[in-house]
Amino acid sequence: MNGTLTIIGCRAGSPGRNGPASGYVVEADGKRVVIDCGPGVLAGLASRGLTDVDGMIISHQHADHSADVAPFGYHRSFPKILPPVPLYGPTGIEAYLDTLDDVHGIPTIPEMATPIATQFPIHEVEPGESFELAGLRVDTLLAFHPVPCISIRLPQLGLVYTADTGLTDELIEFSRDAKLLLAEATYPTEEGRDFSQHGHMGGAEAGRLAREANVEHLVVTHLSDWAQRDETETHVVKEFDGTISFAEPGQQYSL
Ligand SMILES: [Zn+2]
Ligand SMILES: [Zn+2]
Repeated sequence: MNGTLTIIGCRAGSPGRNGPASGYVVEADGKRVVIDCGPGVLAGLASRGLTDVDGMIISHQHADHSADVAPFGYHRSFPKILPPVPLYGPTGIEAYLDTLDDVHGIPTIPEMATPIATQFPIHEVEPGESFELAGLRVDTLLAFHPVPCISIRLPQLGLVYTADTGLTDELIEFSRDAKLLLAEATYPTEEGRDFSQHGHMGGAEAGRLAREANVEHLVVTHLSDWAQRDETETHVVKEFDGTISFAEPGQQYSL
């Protein structure tokens, strides 16, 4: 199976000058799946004509990965009701999205009363479980992060997306021989403030993951400050001598 990965947004924490927070699109066999839907992602999808989707995966509840799900529900409910799109996420995601529906639902317009639950019927997966979505097999791994979060692997396309996580032996195994590893590097280095218990990698960890997992192509994403890109890159290249790219909105990769 062949497919494409399109970067819609790749910022950690918040959208910025260089585009939306986390959001990616995988297309294969005529189907389209959105992975993460942070602030700015819906506009990024709309500007590329990609809002017609067949599935959505939300890695975890942090706003930079999920804040545009409610407006996406509005978009699919009004003025025209579009067919529901299955949404998958880790254990606990349903309670979180129900809270968003409580806040953002518009009870005076029945089709918008629960914009997420109506438009994105929610399926929780226990991290480690696999499921099928839009013809794609999806494997998951419990990420090392302060809230339930899943790393995602699409084995038919050779793609692994770390989501937000610290580096673990399990993640190295999960990423083994990936054709394309989309790996977070939130901080340029582990020096300075110690974020290790917050569950993120730096450039060195992303590079080490790519090397130890023997991946072909590392795409670094989720930088917290674009100005740190060069510094992050110096740490990545010390660890990994394969193909390295830095995610940017609009970039497409063949899978
Ligand atoms: Zn994040
Ligand atoms: Zn997070």
